[in-house]
Amino acid sequence: MFPWIELVRSQMQESFERNRFHHAQLIHGLVGVGKTALVQSLSEDLLCMNSGLNSCGQCKSCLLLRAQNHPDLLHLASESGSIGVDEVRTLNEFVFHSAQQGGNKVVIIEQIEKMTESAANALLKTLEEPAAKRYILMTCNDISKVKATVLSRCNQVRVAVTDGTVAKQWLAMKGISSDAHLWADSFANQPLLLEQWSNQGIMPEVDYLWKVAHDITSISDISALESSLAKGTSLHTVFARFLISAVKQELVADQINFVQYHNCTQQIKKYMSDHHKILGINKLLSLSNLVFGLQRVLKQD
Ligand SMILES: [Zn+2]
Repeated sequence: MFPWIELVRSQMQESFERNRFHHAQLIHGLVGVGKTALVQSLSEDLLCMNSGLNSCGQCKSCLLLRAQNHPDLLHLASESGSIGVDEVRTLNEFVFHSAQQGGNKVVIIEQIEKMTESAANALLKTLEEPAAKRYILMTCNDISKVKATVLSRCNQVRVAVTDGTVAKQWLAMKGISSDAHLWADSFANQPLLLEQWSNQGIMPEVDYLWKVAHDITSISDISALESSLAKGTSLHTVFARFLISAVKQELVADQINFVQYHNCTQQIKKYMSDHHKILGINKLLSLSNLVFGLQRVLKQD
């Protein structure tokens, strides 16, 4: 397990040993802190036939899990779109039937904030009246988007990188350091995101976006920028984040005034919200509007 998760993990183990482990666990935190890895390892521990919250890796249950073929594990994930009421009905049905291996049954729901309102309502009863030996492990990137009625029925566990040094050391072992990537430290609280970019081979793109964001007034080739952004699903968010930090730097260095700063951040936020809201948006046009809009403001005296 990742070093920054060890403490949370051992606290959960302790609550399990004291019979205080809640049947509905909501693990929340930023993208790239290891929430999925944590719920996966908890599900292994809960399904293991040997006692305690520590999977043995050798019993029949552990072997079934390794073969990704465990009948008492249900995994609901929403890569895109939402988690609907049909999926929650499947869940309720799954929880109702007895365990095929005679032990615990576990449901993993990833990104619970993507659950529709009616799906969340369908889940409430199961959360409220837990059957014995049933566990629901949920992850969430943004807890503010989860319904209060769901939240109040879960044990909330926050996962975060609390010691940046530990994460930086871990990243350095993967060959990712701020020496090579000037922006890397600002993502030290999302180490798995950096690892993912590194595995996908898009670190040069992120380097390029960082450079462009800090030299936005001299950019004219919008197509090159757009094709760079298109290489990763969340790169436009990263680019917006770099832009915000670049204009903040300009403000602090007295290169721009507060009105210019405010105008820039508004434009960047609009670009972001358009991306999320407008289906089939003309990305090149929206990017041109942003870049030339920022240039107009930044070049004012
Ligand atoms: Zn086992």
